[in-house]
Amino acid sequence: MVGGIVMNNASGMNCGTHANSDKMLLSARIVFVDGTILDTGSDISKQEFLLRHAGFITQIQTLRDLIRTDEELSARIRYKYSIKNVTGLNLLPFIAFDDPFDIITHLMVGSEGTLAFLSEVTMKTEYDYPHKASAMLYFSDIKEACRAVVAMKKLTNEKDEWIVKGAELLDWKSLASVNDSTGEGLTAVLTETKAHSKEELAQNITAIEETLASFNTYIPVRFTDKPEEYSKYWAIRSGIFPSVGGTRQPGTTCLIEDVAFHIEDLPEATAELQQLIARHGYDDACIYGHALEGNYHFIINQSFSTDAEVKRYEELMNDVKTLVVDKYDGSLKAEHGTGRNMAPFVKYEWGEKAYEIMKAVKALFDPQNLLNPGVIFNDDPLCHIKNFKPLPLTNPHVDKCIECGFCEVNCLTCGFTLSSRQRIVLRREISRLKQNGNDPNASPLYKNNTVTPETRLAPETAFVQCPVPWVSTQAT
Ligand SMILES: Cc1cc2nc3c(=O)[nH]c(=O)nc-3n(C[C@H](O)[C@H](O)[C@H](O)COP(=O)(O)OP(=O)(O)OC[C@H]3O[C@@H](n4cnc5c(N)ncnc54)[C@H](O)[C@@H]3O)c2cc1C
Ligand code: SF4
Repeated sequence: MVGGIVMNNASGMNCGTHANSDKMLLSARIVFVDGTILDTGSDISKQEFLLRHAGFITQIQTLRDLIRTDEELSARIRYKYSIKNVTGLNLLPFIAFDDPFDIITHLMVGSEGTLAFLSEVTMKTEYDYPHKASAMLYFSDIKEACRAVVAMKKLTNEKDEWIVKGAELLDWKSLASVNDSTGEGLTAVLTETKAHSKEELAQNITAIEETLASFNTYIPVRFTDKPEEYSKYWAIRSGIFPSVGGTRQPGTTCLIEDVAFHIEDLPEATAELQQLIARHGYDDACIYGHALEGNYHFIINQSFSTDAEVKRYEELMNDVKTLVVDKYDGSLKAEHGTGRNMAPFVKYEWGEKAYEIMKAVKALFDPQNLLNPGVIFNDDPLCHIKNFKPLPLTNPHVDKCIECGFCEVNCLTCGFTLSSRQRIVLRREISRLKQNGNDPNASPLYKNNTVTPETRLAPETAFVQCPVPWVSTQAT
């Protein structure tokens, strides 16, 4: 949903830091915790706000000036946001904008519902180039693949536009998860270029091929501008998450992490991340994502059923923190939001001064800590290893479901009654209650409902076909 996208500062395959939610946002209609409504796209609304909440505006200006007079902090903020970063609250607006209303608008971005409710946004749109081509590049060595990405990122045309618009890395585990049979142990980089005209597209492809000539590719570089061909590459890329999730051990949780490195660090950092994950024994984990922006996701299928498994996860996260923050000064979260998982590490990544500013912003917007408590700001240093969402076994037909929600856009019953995913969530909850010796009919979920969970959920036919091919062959 648009609210969630802006609240996470989501971006995507082509957006980087130049066209993420923050860069595309023009104005917002904000509902504050006390019910005050501010539409930063309306002069009348801004004047009213100024009359009634002059103190709020003054405090925003004070924080802005405090940051700007501190050169070290200002430089740190600029450096941190030179790559994707959604760890903590968004501090960039204090540097990027003078107007307090612009600052308020952009403070919303990435705030994950911790500051106010967003009921409307006005955003710019990106130009959709009419001519596109993609190539699946294969490398025998992951470092070589990253070096090629670093080289491709530097390519620009005479208008000073980037030639390569997207470069998505898929490590060999990712390729294996979608049954790619090109070769053993390869790394792929799905590369995309776009142009205003056919001639420009051809020039772009030539420039990329010339750059890649000095790299060791496993098979010859071949771009295609045929949508029926390149859409298959992109379908492979989109299928990684559900495919890895669909093949996990029943009862484990599919976790997706989201780190970013500065592009010059990519070759070393990627190889080290791969070794780190292997060192912790996550044999089926894979690394993939937006390499052009130094932003990787890695997926692990984690059990939380024993203390030993929770410990293993904790140790992994501590090592990730050391690698990303201490060694490479990168982002622990790039586009998925801090949540509770990274809340204990916000201060660690940003340092004391920046963290204090974030806390001051939170206190200004939500003095009673009513909005999404525990998200982004959490005093419990171990909150990331507590209160795990359980995924109890419930039915072989649905145990593979990772609750990704891809089916909901096509779900006939979503919004009318429960969606397929919601049915699965409730079935799991019923199983969890039963396994713990509780009566699901006594659950607060049903206390005002004359329909019992069984009558709502019993028929197997209640589940629609899962649209994710890799999952659907084995699951719902
Ligand atoms: C399979 C998958 C692939 C993804 N790929 C990408 C990707 O390529 N690039 C990328 O950037 N991100 C990606 N994401 C993460 C992405 O940022 C979020 O999943 C998504 O954009 C959030 O939208 P949502 O509607 O699901 O929000 P939710 O998860 O429902 O909400 C996100 C946060 O915002 C808050 N929130 C939501 N709406 C409002 C509102 N109106 N007002 C105030 N607070 C609100 C919620 O409380 C929550 O804290 C991916 C996620 C998944 C599951
Ligand atoms: S059933 Fe829906 S929520 Fe579950 S894995 Fe398939 S697409 Fe995702």
